[in-house]
Amino acid sequence: MLPYENLNQSNQSFFKEYQKKFNQLLEKGYFILGNEVAEFEKEFATYCQTNYCIGVGNGLDALTIILKALSEKYFFHEKTEIIVPSNTYIATILAILQNGFKPILVEPIIETYNIDPVEIEKAITPKTKVIMVTHLYGKVCQMDKIEEIAKKHNLLIVEDAAQAHGATFNDQKAGSFGIANGFSFYPTKNLGALGDGGGIATNDSDLDKSIRSLRNYGSKQKYYNEKIGFNSRLDELQAAFLRIKLDKLDEINNHKRKLAKIYLENLKSDFILPVVEQNYYDVYHIFAVRHEKRNELKEFLLKNEIQTEIHYPVPPAEQKALKGILDKTHFPIAKKIHQTILSLPISYFHTEKDVLRVVEVMNKF
Ligand SMILES: *Cc1c(COP(=O)(O)O)cnc(C)c1O
Repeated sequence: MLPYENLNQSNQSFFKEYQKKFNQLLEKGYFILGNEVAEFEKEFATYCQTNYCIGVGNGLDALTIILKALSEKYFFHEKTEIIVPSNTYIATILAILQNGFKPILVEPIIETYNIDPVEIEKAITPKTKVIMVTHLYGKVCQMDKIEEIAKKHNLLIVEDAAQAHGATFNDQKAGSFGIANGFSFYPTKNLGALGDGGGIATNDSDLDKSIRSLRNYGSKQKYYNEKIGFNSRLDELQAAFLRIKLDKLDEINNHKRKLAKIYLENLKSDFILPVVEQNYYDVYHIFAVRHEKRNELKEFLLKNEIQTEIHYPVPPAEQKALKGILDKTHFPIAKKIHQTILSLPISYFHTEKDVLRVVEVMNKF
């Protein structure tokens, strides 16, 4: 069976360095907010072309804490509306709800799977404060158009960059467009830890300070609490592992792009492939194809010993958890994507040969 992902194999080339680092930190005995977190934050900020990065517990917390910090800085009222794509991973929407604000779902462009700027503009009301974009599958959204809309209507942009470490648009990195932007270092992400982890990238020094406080009990000085904070710190061990992997992130992304190229050049035209556009550097966190007979295709591949995934089987508006919460629940484009999309193997450990085998089987479908 060709697995969709195998973290033992994907991490294999890092084992020796991870083990050495683990032994060092075990000897040192310092586990929370130490030198490794501070150094990783500097290195990841540099990587993202931002002034600051703050390590947090996971990707959902990154987005939740960003909105909390923005609501304090810009005095959001309870009825604040936040625009978010109708086909995003549920975390983006949960971050809005955890803050007590109202998610306004907006349809994506079917070709790119990313939020449609035209639909964003239609959804703006006097209560709108933020446009939250998700760079889905590792492709940056149309940030030039979105920035224009944000400027025109005086709105803030927040990026959910959890699938887009290193992706660019017009040579600008994901995580550097919005006022503050969230990353996840969940083990399967392009930059993955050996457990949970998250980060926030920003150029705003006030937000850097308030987010640092919010992630650590709302406290700048131990036992003195200024805000109702969270306990959501990137842990020292994960930061150390992430520093090792960050050195190889461009290599990981290039590997995935090389595999994507094989799919793009060899899959027959029955499959709807991801679009490739000038000025975009896509990092293929997920290589998604669409087909009307998606379920049969998945079954056919499995019979041929190829494992695939669906990102995601249920659109957010149809999740039980959101029942009765959204004004609008009819999102035909999101629904169509969720019904027809299939993620093909494209991990760091997959070889060109593996991908050619997937292509061969796919083309027989
Ligand atoms: C993975 C992911 C998250 C959440 O990250 P966690 O670290 O699992 O909390 C948020 N948004 C998107 C788009 C993701 O893919």
